[in-house]
Amino acid sequence: MPEGDTVWNTARVLQRALAGARLTGSDFRVPQLATTDLTGWTVRESASRGKHLLLRLTGTDAEQWTLHSHLRMDGAWRAYAPGERWSGRPAHLIRVVLSSPAAVAVGYHLHELALVPTAEEESLVGHLGPDLLGPDWDADEAVRRLAADPDRTIGEALLDQRNLAGVGNLYKCEVLFLRGVSPWTPVGAVPDLPGTVALAQRLLAANRGRWTQSTTGVLHRGGTSYVYGRRAQPCRRCGTAIRKEELGERVTYWCPVCQPGVELPRNAQDRPR
Ligand SMILES: [Zn+2]
Repeated sequence: MPEGDTVWNTARVLQRALAGARLTGSDFRVPQLATTDLTGWTVRESASRGKHLLLRLTGTDAEQWTLHSHLRMDGAWRAYAPGERWSGRPAHLIRVVLSSPAAVAVGYHLHELALVPTAEEESLVGHLGPDLLGPDWDADEAVRRLAADPDRTIGEALLDQRNLAGVGNLYKCEVLFLRGVSPWTPVGAVPDLPGTVALAQRLLAANRGRWTQSTTGVLHRGGTSYVYGRRAQPCRRCGTAIRKEELGERVTYWCPVCQPGVELPRNAQDRPR
């Protein structure tokens, strides 16, 4: 599940593979960039902001550009050595290939692929809240943005990238379990919002630098989460069956005993206030 930590890791892969390199070729397989050729362009750096990837380049005209991509649920970038077999995904999922003398970067099933002047990056990521893994992470600002809509469920508010950037469904479910907070709790009724935000940041940060996402400290298959992906399995704390319901546009997993309180799944949005 590409969340902020996965995107951060991906940005680092591209940084190691391409930073400083002059591209020897490019192959865009999306309509909006089909005629774009980055041959001769230089890669300045690779960065992430929330779940957005920003590959910053200098064109042959010396202008500064940013190649933006978003992984959503299923996208990925892989870096290969020249001549190495591309083993990542089926070829029909390839959206872009960037070649340099030392590495080939292949983007699979990327979304929102766009090439914009670096000065206009904000038009793509300016709406985002503080980046949990960014150099400018601002916990107070994230809390302020969350608290601005006190009636919204905390489960939905944590996923809104305008509040804080980087939390996806996995970390949302896990953070709320660890805090003992029902996902249907209105933001204004969450006992310790700063503590919840701080825990989200710690969980993402702990998963930087590895591809197996774990909130339990356990890295083997089946042991990496408390509630996410564990419907009907026993809660690791109390043994109650973990539940799964729709919340907003996404599903959520939770333990009804460890996360008590407001529990109005299915039509929670319509509940009387
Ligand atoms: Zn439990």
